[in-house]
Amino acid sequence: MSYYKADKVRFAANGNWIFIVSALAPHATDALKKLGRHVSCPVHGGKDGFRLFKSDFLETGGGVCNTCGPRHDGFELLMWLNNWSFKETLEAIGNFLSIEPELSWQEKKQQHEVTNQSTKTAATSKPGTAPKPSTNAEVKPSNVSTFKSVKTEAWLTKLQEDMELNAERQKAYSAKLEGKIAKIWSEECLPISSQMVEPMRAYFQNRELIFRWAEVEKSDCLRFHPALSYYDEDGNEVGKFPSIVCAIRDKKGKLITLHRIYLTATGMKANVPSPKKMMPIPENFSVTGASIRLGHPSEGILGVAEGVETALAAYRASNIPVWATVNATLLETFEAPEGVHTVLIWADKDRSLTGQKSAATLKARLEKNGIQVFILIPKQPITAQEKGVDWNDVLMSQGKHAFPGASYLRDFISRRTAGGNV
Ligand SMILES: [Zn+2]
Repeated sequence: MSYYKADKVRFAANGNWIFIVSALAPHATDALKKLGRHVSCPVHGGKDGFRLFKSDFLETGGGVCNTCGPRHDGFELLMWLNNWSFKETLEAIGNFLSIEPELSWQEKKQQHEVTNQSTKTAATSKPGTAPKPSTNAEVKPSNVSTFKSVKTEAWLTKLQEDMELNAERQKAYSAKLEGKIAKIWSEECLPISSQMVEPMRAYFQNRELIFRWAEVEKSDCLRFHPALSYYDEDGNEVGKFPSIVCAIRDKKGKLITLHRIYLTATGMKANVPSPKKMMPIPENFSVTGASIRLGHPSEGILGVAEGVETALAAYRASNIPVWATVNATLLETFEAPEGVHTVLIWADKDRSLTGQKSAATLKARLEKNGIQVFILIPKQPITAQEKGVDWNDVLMSQGKHAFPGASYLRDFISRRTAGGNV
């Protein structure tokens, strides 16, 4: 029995997923036609829970249903759409792309006997010479003419062309991203002590977060941008807004990317679809373990929270620096800097339990590295209108006294460290 090599098929499929999915899973046509937008799930139905990944569908062929879960690449997608095994999927794609199958050893032997001479090329017979899977930055031009069952429908070809253009644009953007981040941060932003930062001051004041500005400024992770461009999902500029800009740095202090909070002139959240947005991560950079480093930990104790506002609230109330990881996913990967023996996690209390679960994951990870961890969850109940409660909500509704104070925390930590009961 001949067979297909997964690497070879994967390599050939890269850049051609539109044609592959269109031919092998016609019931996903709607999702292709509205690539990147939500449509009814081809498997479970529903109204609009399913979409294909717009940014890299050409290369990876992945998609996600909010109910059925993510399919990271075209193989997983087709297995799920057609209820196929991996082998069936590999065969169907290999066959569709007219890839030469590998011969089994019996077939090779047979062929050898017939021709009495190997006709195989080195590439297909030597192990380790299979084509390398391409990196995510490169998209091969489509090779549609070699497909067995070419769909010549105009919308498919048009979609392919649009997506190739999109991928090129993204590649160009990604190449410039590191420089763009550095420029916004070093050239365009103002220090928080500047006279011009009124919208930022008002935003923090509304949340009772004005304090120790000098200390926060010294840690150089918050700045203000008087007119930062906001782009929609298709890369079109919607407008310019005053913004809080936060530096997300890795363990060594290297600037990885920026988090932005878009504001109105009076310090409200700007009226845009996502007023809080993190910039993408430049290629070859890793955001794992990185955070917004508000203040310098002393005495080996450091707090960590998801949002900047939550971190500033906990910092203000506890007088212990609290770093922000922006979201729950990054909270789980947080890395404590050198010299920190105790971490306080100021967890979000979410109805979905996301914040609490991430806090528990981080706790388990840090404890393995010998760091003492305490999770602090707001006692305040979640009201019917709220998705959750964070420590900034606690500060605003109950004040500093609803927090464990610095001396209480230090005392608590030292007694725990000494092995006593609390
Ligand atoms: Zn579904």
